[in-house]
Amino acid sequence: MHPINLFGSTLEELQELCAAEGWPKFTARQMCDWLYKKQVLAIDEMTNLSLKVRARLKEVGYIGRSVPVDCQTSRDGTKKYLFRIDTPTGQPCGTDALKTRQGGADAPDAGHEGGHPFVEAVMIPDGDRATLCISCQRGCRMGCRFCVTGRQGFHGNLSAGEILNQVLSVPESSILTNIVYMGMGEPMDNYDNVLRSTQVLTAEWGLGWSPRRLTVSSVGVTPMLRRLVEESECHVAVSLHNAYGAERAVLKPMERRYPVAGVVAMLKEYDWSGQRRISFEYTMFKGVNDDLGHAAELVRLLRGLHCRVNLIRFHESAEVELSASGREAMEHFRDYLNNHNIICTIRASRGEDIMAACGLLAGDGARARQ
Ligand code: SF4
Repeated sequence: MHPINLFGSTLEELQELCAAEGWPKFTARQMCDWLYKKQVLAIDEMTNLSLKVRARLKEVGYIGRSVPVDCQTSRDGTKKYLFRIDTPTGQPCGTDALKTRQGGADAPDAGHEGGHPFVEAVMIPDGDRATLCISCQRGCRMGCRFCVTGRQGFHGNLSAGEILNQVLSVPESSILTNIVYMGMGEPMDNYDNVLRSTQVLTAEWGLGWSPRRLTVSSVGVTPMLRRLVEESECHVAVSLHNAYGAERAVLKPMERRYPVAGVVAMLKEYDWSGQRRISFEYTMFKGVNDDLGHAAELVRLLRGLHCRVNLIRFHESAEVELSASGREAMEHFRDYLNNHNIICTIRASRGEDIMAACGLLAGDGARARQ
C-alpha cells in the first residue's frame, strides 16, 4: 500500500480520491488550488481543509516536491540542475495510485528498477525568454547513437509529479516562459505521465500555462505521437536527423520500427497552419547528413507540411565517434531549405561547457555525490 503523490494528480483524479474517501467533490478543487496555485509543500498548509480531512490525507498521500541537489552554471548563463528521484519507479498519481493502493498485495514494491536515481533539467536564458528543458525518464531506451543519455540504457519512468517538480523547483520557476520536453528520455515512451504533466501545466485548475509555451519532442513513435497530436494542444517536435530511412536507422534505431516517412505522413493528416507548431530537429554530423543531397531529400520528405526545421550543431564527446558539421555546411543547408519554402534556423548552442547541450545529459550525479 503506497501513499499517493498528490502533486502531479489531475483534478479528475483528486475527485476520484475524494469520492473514495467520502469527501465533498469541491475538496478536490481546493487541493488543486493548494498544490498548483499556492504551491504548498505540506498537507498541513492546506488550511481550508478540515483537520480530519488533512489527517486522513497525510495517511494516504504526500506532496512530492524536492529541490535540485546540484546546479552547474555555464559561462553563457545556462544552468543545469540535478534532481534526485527518490520515489518508487513510475509511481502513479491520483486514480492510478488509488487503484494501486486498493490493490493490496498486488501493489508494486517501492524502490528503483536499478541504475542511478538522477535526472537533469536545463534552464536556458535568452533575452526575455527563459526555457526549461525537462526530463521524463531516468535514462532512455531509444539508443540513439550520438546521445549520452541513450548510452546509459533505461532505468525508469518519471511520474507526472516528478516531471512537474522540475518546473516548480528550479529557482527560476517564476520567470520561465517556455518548457521543452527534450531532456533525458523519450516522452512517447512515458506517454501517460507526460500527458498528465501537460494537463496539470495547462489546466485552469492547474498552472494555467498556454499550451503554446510547451513543446513535446519525440523520436517519432507514431501511435503515441498521433495520440499526443490529438489529445494535447502543445507544440510538437520530431528529432529527424536524416531523411533517408536507411541512414537514419544507423543514427536512430527506432527508425526500423517507425520509419520517418510514416511519421511525416501521419503528421500531414493534421492542420499545422495555425498557431500550433510542428518542428523537426536536425543534428548535423560532418560527412553523414550535411550535404545538399540530404537537404534535397529533406525537402522532398516534408513537402506539403507546414513546419520548421531547427539545425543543431553536434556536440562532440569522447564517447561518440561522430564529428560536428562546419558552420559553412550548416549555413548552406539552412539556405537550401529556406529557398525551398521550409523555415529553417540554426539553433544557438548553449551550455556545452557543463554538458548541458543536446544529447549530453548524463544525470550521473557525480558532483552531487562528492
Ligand atoms: Fe533517448 Fe532522446 Fe537520447 Fe534518443 S536522443 S537516446 S530519444 S534521450
